Amino acid sequence: MSTITSQEVRLVSRPSGAPTPANFSLVQTRLGQPRDQEVLVRNLFMSVDPYMRGRMNAGKSYAPRFELDQPLYGGAVGEVVESRASEFKPGDAVTSGFGWREYFVAPSNKLHKVDRGIQPLSIYLGALGMTGMTAWVGLNLVEVKSGDVIYISGAAGSVGNVAGQLANLRGCRVIGSAGSEKKVAFLKDECRFDIAFNYKMGPVIDQLNLEAPDGIDVYFDNVGGESLEAALSALRVHGRIIACGGISDYNAEAPRPGPSNLFNMITKRLTMKGFIVSDWLDLQGKFEAEVGGCYMAGKLRNKETVVKGINKAVSAFIGLFEGKNTGKMVVEL
Ligand code: NDP
Repeated sequence: MSTITSQEVRLVSRPSGAPTPANFSLVQTRLGQPRDQEVLVRNLFMSVDPYMRGRMNAGKSYAPRFELDQPLYGGAVGEVVESRASEFKPGDAVTSGFGWREYFVAPSNKLHKVDRGIQPLSIYLGALGMTGMTAWVGLNLVEVKSGDVIYISGAAGSVGNVAGQLANLRGCRVIGSAGSEKKVAFLKDECRFDIAFNYKMGPVIDQLNLEAPDGIDVYFDNVGGESLEAALSALRVHGRIIACGGISDYNAEAPRPGPSNLFNMITKRLTMKGFIVSDWLDLQGKFEAEVGGCYMAGKLRNKETVVKGINKAVSAFIGLFEGKNTGKMVVEL
């Protein structure tokens, strides 16, 4: 096969505060042929995720930072076009970390083959991929169990809606907050949340106290800020916090003060556990069997917001911070 022309998204300047389209550029490149043990892949879907924002900063992050004038990286699912590795053949569906580009050539050990029988393939970026696994790992981290009252912030997003559905399957009473009435309806009508409220309609603490007057056992934190402060007040003695994310602070230009009521950690003997999903990859098979089984059995709803075209990838990413997605935000390429 001759050379292939592909488009990729590069970071051209580091965002200060909220990212803007000017921080990125769409560049046309040419790919060479795969060499021995390499595979040429055409991406079908790529992921945009809030964690990518931290990697755009100049300072140190828990993951390597993105370099300027280089393509961005992230989750993607694609199909093999040409293979010089015996494990892969044209047509195979694969996940990789080579998102933000239409085509790529990579060593075969950087690819993970997935079942094409499970559709849509974009599910491997969401409910059956990184964010679904984040939800599952988070619940396991503090042993969420039947009878727990759990409050989930960012509940209509990719991690949040799966966390709520899985908690419901475990027999929990599930409370979620999200940023619009439409999302609140989605949580109640499609994701089996017992209670959902719009955090923009009044102080979170007031809404949480109203919906859970006897308190909560677990808080799944995707947001930080006001939601974390409210949860610290609402948690019962020996309550648990799953520290998953803090999107309300990701675009902050200066560090924000922590919750004013952190002393509740002591008086209520609370436990707060943080985690990074990539530390738990040895459990991926167990996750896929358990959560994949729920999906195949019709017990887990897969919700996505699909944006079409690599030229829309940047606006899809920026849209995460504006609440543009319900469920997983994916870009179809
Ligand atoms: P989402 O699909 O939830 O998308 C982001 C959502 O966050 C938006 O739709 C918006 O929904 C909400 N949001 C945006 N800005 C704010 C704000 N200022 N205050 C409150 N809500 C806001 O993203 P993910 O499900 O992929 O990620 C959820 C969280 O989990 C993130 O914090 C992410 O960083 C974290 N995460 C952590 C991982 C780990 O290993 N620990 C792995 C993956 C994700 P709304 O309309 O409701 O405001």
